Amino acid sequence: MAASPHDLDSADPLASFRDRFVIDDDLVAYLDGNSLGRLPVATLDRLTTFVRQEWGSRLIRGWSEGWVDLPVTVGDELGRELLGAADGQTVIADSTSVCIHKLLHAAAGLRADRDEIIIDATNFPTDRYLVEAVAEARGMTVRRLEPDLVENVTTEVLAGALGERTAVVLLSHVDYRSGTLLDLPAITDAVHAAGAVVIWDLCHSAGVVPIELDSAGVDFAVGCTYKYVNAGPGAPAFAYVAARHLAQAEQPIPGWWSAADLFAMSDTYEASPTVRRMLSGTPPVAAILAVQEGVRLIAEAGIGPIRDKSVALTTYLIEQLDAAGLEIVTPRDPHRRGSHVTVRHPRAREIAAEMLERGVVPDFREPDLIRLGLSPLTTSYVEVAAGVAVLAELAR
Ligand SMILES: *Cc1c(COP(=O)(O)O)cnc(C)c1O
Repeated sequence: MAASPHDLDSADPLASFRDRFVIDDDLVAYLDGNSLGRLPVATLDRLTTFVRQEWGSRLIRGWSEGWVDLPVTVGDELGRELLGAADGQTVIADSTSVCIHKLLHAAAGLRADRDEIIIDATNFPTDRYLVEAVAEARGMTVRRLEPDLVENVTTEVLAGALGERTAVVLLSHVDYRSGTLLDLPAITDAVHAAGAVVIWDLCHSAGVVPIELDSAGVDFAVGCTYKYVNAGPGAPAFAYVAARHLAQAEQPIPGWWSAADLFAMSDTYEASPTVRRMLSGTPPVAAILAVQEGVRLIAEAGIGPIRDKSVALTTYLIEQLDAAGLEIVTPRDPHRRGSHVTVRHPRAREIAAEMLERGVVPDFREPDLIRLGLSPLTTSYVEVAAGVAVLAELAR
């Protein structure tokens, strides 16, 4: 007989991490931690202390007492723990969209003799809009891949598009709809073999899938911290620039925070030689502290155990969905998927709305997809079982 969800929770080595989060709701199942992660208790404490003791009593002195360095020090911490990135290549800044804009310009600038940017039609809208806008601003052309949603972008799909005109390729590591996990090292190699540079969007993999940017030789990367990093609504993004590109990486929003000397108030702009050159203006200090707490929690649990639980949870979820006869548009091979599983149903919109009424939070994605996101530090097997039971009943 198959193990009950209670047994699976009892045997889960990460089960106790659920108690490290504020779980103060009336939900039966929160299956949207990949859109907005839960609030860590440590973050609540840290922000309360910060607001009273640092902002409240240190005031402007706080900048010279450490706030100034946070975009880089927390960037380094996130880079080391989540991205396989040595220090000095990652900053916490802006939103993912703004960072994509900056990185697209920096990447295109490295290949100024080429005029094409490649992106896939399955990519997240903001990524596609930004590619269109940057291509137009720079007089470049967009080449759109049209892969199958579930198979998504492979080296074979890319092979037909890469060429001497390719300057930049922007891809998502995990597809936001199907959950397909792309082969980051192999695709990075293929892009380099064509003489182009790659930008990886890690929004749906950072904090839940092991990532090794340095060893894969990735050029640029970007991602959210409010999804699996649990840093809160609107938390700033991270941007990674490989050390070998730093001296040439030119971004389009130069401000005093990206200048060589922040407080020199110089007449002329000179970009910082460090990764600070990707910043623009004054950073959101409180929000960066929330990123730091989120990163620390992931580091404590370990990205390896987190990935193991993610695979076990998505496997369990797929078994339950199969038993209910639901159509799945996520790879069945666990090596080819991230931490969410997507169901296709003609009445998806209506079902997702009814699930919400019944205390189960999924994510509806146009036109007919219901996305179920499993966040290994907080999602329990009991939650998954309860969520599927409601979904199955409504889908019948
Ligand atoms: C969530 C997500 C974004 C969000 O960008 P914001 O600027 O934070 O709104 C961008 N790209 C992908 C692939 C995402 O999953």
